[in-house]
Amino acid sequence: MSDRILALAESQTIAMAKKARELAAQGHDVINLSFGEPDFQTPDYIKEAAKQAIDEGFTFYTPVAGYPELRQEIADKFKRDNNLNYKPENIVVSTGAKQSIANAVLCLVNPGDEVIIFSPYWVSYEEIVKLAEGVPVPVMGRLENDYKVTAEQLEKAITTNTKIVLYSSPCNPTGAVYSTEELQALAKVLEKHPQVHVIADEIYEYINFEGGHASMAGIAAIRDRVITINGFSKGYAMTGWRVGYLAASKEIAAACDKMQSQITSGTCSIAQKAATAALKGGKAAPEEMAAAYRRRRDLVLQLMNEIPGFQTYVPSGAFYIFPDVSHYFGKRYQGQTISSALDLSLFLLTDAHVAVVSGEAFGAGQCIRFSFAASDEKLTEALRRIKNSLAKLN
Ligand code: PMP
Ligand code: GLU
Repeated sequence: MSDRILALAESQTIAMAKKARELAAQGHDVINLSFGEPDFQTPDYIKEAAKQAIDEGFTFYTPVAGYPELRQEIADKFKRDNNLNYKPENIVVSTGAKQSIANAVLCLVNPGDEVIIFSPYWVSYEEIVKLAEGVPVPVMGRLENDYKVTAEQLEKAITTNTKIVLYSSPCNPTGAVYSTEELQALAKVLEKHPQVHVIADEIYEYINFEGGHASMAGIAAIRDRVITINGFSKGYAMTGWRVGYLAASKEIAAACDKMQSQITSGTCSIAQKAATAALKGGKAAPEEMAAAYRRRRDLVLQLMNEIPGFQTYVPSGAFYIFPDVSHYFGKRYQGQTISSALDLSLFLLTDAHVAVVSGEAFGAGQCIRFSFAASDEKLTEALRRIKNSLAKLN
């Protein structure tokens, strides 16, 4: 095995979902709040477009960066939603936003380059940077600031080796959303460091409970250094179709196209046709789902406030809540001590049969992540069970 694969950690979100499935296969009634995936079906009009694509013979290799029609739809989406001016040549469509992020990192990072990652962060960021032989530099947002990183913190973390700043907004796992003012303050710092690029992961853009999505690429002074990541998995409930994209300068987009041409080629022809239809259909379906997530967020917050020792805040977007659970560290049950978020999440899985993801993988070992992309009934039952199980600890 290569050093590369030996050094790579398994994705903890995927690992926990696997454990939950295994327990369920043994006959246990497991409620899985571990995986970050919409529980909604892909809207029918999108499924119909895929069926039509098969019937019309879209079964051949596609251009590596995606069908021109889809890239144009994506460019139009950026104009419509974000007031960003991109041409199809700035867009690269990939097999999920995960690949878009990997493309960008692999195209920009040399061994030893530092990548500042706003923490808590999505599990795959750190590992993708390591794959590129870069050095992840997590910068932790404070709970008092809804876990968002400030301009002062960014300033302190930048060195001459910094190549990229990488973050998500709305954030997985915290649900924090950066405002225009906050992004402008960060961009002011970046203006002084022309070698630093930004990867802004906006995949949860359509799941925003406060409104007002802001894009770093909207800030003219640094625009050419910003790579915006987005995709269809979350907003349009299309996780299995594997379509994501990035928008970047022509040079960076061309580099990502070249990278992808040697690794996967263009993403699935049928999925691209479905994605094109998704965008043509506008935001009605995403808005309906976002309204359900908002209601569930409020339900979860209300139920979580009844659980002693869970330190919460109000997530502004995405479908996660990431309470600080360190209150329970050092407590015991049946001779075993809970000494970490991982211990607590394993206890909740075995005792309450509720799967969550422990915060270590997100750079925050005092927290655990709950996905609220589940029905009201499941959420209510999961939190009832968790409350009962935690009451056993002393
Ligand atoms: N970024 C974030 C923050 C995510 O939570 C996810 C979830 N899978 C992704 C990127 C990747 O999404 P996908 O590859 O399904 O488009
Ligand atoms: N992004 C989702 C999550 O955070 C899906 C799993 C993954 O791709 O890691 O759970």
